[in-house]
Amino acid sequence: MSLRVPPPQSLREALKVPDRYMFGPGPSNVPPRILEAGARPVIGHMHPEIFEIMSDIKSGIQYLFQTQNKMTFAVSGTGHSAMECAIFNTVEPGDSVLTAVNGIWGERAAEMAERIGGRVNAIVAPPGGIFTNEDIEKALSKHRPALFFLAHGESSTGSHVEYNCLFLVDSVASMGGSPLHMDQQEIDILYTGSQKVLNAPPGTAPISFSERACRKISSRKTKPLSFFLDFNWLTNYWGCDDKPTRVYHHTGPVTAFYSLRESLAVLCEEGLEASWERHRTVAEYFHAGLENIGLKLFVKDKQVRLPTVTTIIAPHGYDWKEITSYIMRTHNLEISGGLGPSAGLVRS
Ligand code: PMP
Repeated sequence: MSLRVPPPQSLREALKVPDRYMFGPGPSNVPPRILEAGARPVIGHMHPEIFEIMSDIKSGIQYLFQTQNKMTFAVSGTGHSAMECAIFNTVEPGDSVLTAVNGIWGERAAEMAERIGGRVNAIVAPPGGIFTNEDIEKALSKHRPALFFLAHGESSTGSHVEYNCLFLVDSVASMGGSPLHMDQQEIDILYTGSQKVLNAPPGTAPISFSERACRKISSRKTKPLSFFLDFNWLTNYWGCDDKPTRVYHHTGPVTAFYSLRESLAVLCEEGLEASWERHRTVAEYFHAGLENIGLKLFVKDKQVRLPTVTTIIAPHGYDWKEITSYIMRTHNLEISGGLGPSAGLVRS
């Protein structure tokens, strides 16, 4: 049989990738050291050397998350895959789920839980707004959820424990740049992505499960809907369970693991507290500079601004798209538009 689809002309051209200042909410610029780690030779995803690298990653995540949880690993995928890994494994059809919605992440968590048959309720705050412990406590007592989702970063009162509810926190946009102590704040499931504060390429997503979360998973009556994100398979592949052998589940993205390991090594060298402090100081300086030139920040209360993402209101009469594309064109610098309720704003 003859070929009916010829090789595309475009692939005869050399790969072109611009050098760009990545000042949007992620991915961020990857330092040469981390890029070089990812360019090392590919080895097998079941070789002992990769298991050692995975074990280093696991310890690095335990430090990053400030947790002793054994069930700590990285999902092969972006932040969304960790989000689904958390929800698909802990929620069974008919389970009550509570999500805190103050932007698109709570909405997406709600949709994921709904798709697998969860009964979802939400507490809603204005975009960029915060939830008080009272709001949360009231909703927990009303809905008695099995899982409560919150995007970083209010701390918990611990009241979810009383209500026998798992506490799931999304820290994709903040982990490593703003204080979070998984064990001390009694967070049951915590995840992040590789491409933000960690400055690694997108494609791996650190996640950790507390013992309470593991108990909920082991008492499931049904298997999780996703085979790829199945907790038991993944924790075996990552050597987190006490089984003597690891069974092939999927081909781990080994070069992405090298980059993730290197990014965690960089963070360990700097130290978490120093990283938090650096992000705080730079953000304060940046925010003051923006306000000094007359720009308005979307989150008014300084106390609740994330140091890792800055939301600027496009000045009256200007179209944010024109601003971001002008900056990209003239300065080769990415800042992006807001998502969901903050659409029409610019983020950097
Ligand atoms: N949660 C938050 C808070 C995020 O900022 C993002 C990425 N913008 C995600 C989840 C999803 O991550 P990803 O794009 O890596 O799937």
